[in-house]
Amino acid sequence: MSPVLMLKLGEMVLKGLNRARFEQRLLDTLRRRLEGLGAFSVRSLQSTVYVEPEESVPAERRETVVLRARDAALRVFGIAAVTVAEKTAPDLSPVLQAALSHCGLQTAQTFKVEARRADKSYPLTSPQICAELGARLLERLPHLTVDVHRPEVTVWVEIREGFAYVHTAPLPGAGGLPAGMSGKAVLLLSGGIDSPVAGWRMARRGLELVAVHFHSYPYTSRESLEKVRELACRLAAWHGPMKLYTVPLTAVQERMRAEGPEDYFTLLLRRSMARIASAVALRERCSALITGESLGQVASQTLEAMAVTGTASTLPVFRPLAGMDKEEIVTTARQIGTFEISIRPFEDCCTVFTPRHPRTRPRPGPVLDAEAKGTWIALEGEALTSAQRPEVAYAPHC
Ligand code: ATP
Ligand code: MG
Repeated sequence: MSPVLMLKLGEMVLKGLNRARFEQRLLDTLRRRLEGLGAFSVRSLQSTVYVEPEESVPAERRETVVLRARDAALRVFGIAAVTVAEKTAPDLSPVLQAALSHCGLQTAQTFKVEARRADKSYPLTSPQICAELGARLLERLPHLTVDVHRPEVTVWVEIREGFAYVHTAPLPGAGGLPAGMSGKAVLLLSGGIDSPVAGWRMARRGLELVAVHFHSYPYTSRESLEKVRELACRLAAWHGPMKLYTVPLTAVQERMRAEGPEDYFTLLLRRSMARIASAVALRERCSALITGESLGQVASQTLEAMAVTGTASTLPVFRPLAGMDKEEIVTTARQIGTFEISIRPFEDCCTVFTPRHPRTRPRPGPVLDAEAKGTWIALEGEALTSAQRPEVAYAPHC
């Protein structure tokens, strides 16, 4: 008996001719994430990836090593479900032993057995495996009863390639498509709750991210920059190493304050951000921008305001949170590990010169007039030039 990790591939199995490329990318990512966690053999067969400790791993270390691999696999995009199974000879007595020792049946009241037989030469049919194993389990653990509708524990037995794999319910995987398979985009990353979630959702759809953060040092503190670096590292745990540009926006904002109409200030700032982010996108060969905007959340995120800010970008703007409530966004932020960092107090460059009465239904005309009369656009190029070279955000085993 030996523990093995079974990973079910997600929607990439629907990819037809491209499927092999998607699968290869997923395996590359997985192998990189497993580096340093132990010696594994990784192979893919019939929409399942098997991760097994190599022969060289001592028996008493195998479980620990597989559990570490499981934790890493839970953060790999493209995997729909993650299971730790016991691999045994396909006979019923080792299968029974595996079920007794690894499925938590001792503390359960009800159970059922589910069997799947990829190997059709196996002498028992799936219903026969269920009936036979179920009967033997009841004999050994008489406190149990069978409940086929709502069992506390389901014992799965899969017969494949000459082995039996015994396990309980799989854990949900990260889902989505393998890292980087959909192209590259710039994520406008603030220190708030929303933009890290927006980045995660698009990375999960297979986008490689380049993060851009705007700061207004010295109006905003060094701590707020540090916070954004930490957020980028949390995202890197899912996405893999991620570039982060930190762009000083102070000079642009000061000029805007001196020359621009106050009620349009937030929108003008958003447009500056969109233009600079588009320039980064060009440099980094990215094809879209991503923001954490959510429809109606604040004055600058009404439909009219988003239309005004969107036209400043030369690229499509993805707003994956547009249709999500704050509660839903917070739930995701907690799941992906960014929430606790995002709620630390910080100043954002947008809050530095907030207008007293921001426009909620802006018209494009006055915005374009203000930009034609003002001179801050000329400073945007300098802001990008003075952004240091991008840093790279890492997470352990990313
Ligand atoms: P978040 O929680 O992501 O800060 P928010 O609800 O506070 O979002 P805003 O402050 O209005 O919203 O910002 C809207 C979007 O603009 C953000 O989600 C982010 O994508 C982008 N943005 C705002 N501030 C910055 C910044 N300082 N650097 C980079 N992007 C920013
Ligand atoms: Mg914000």
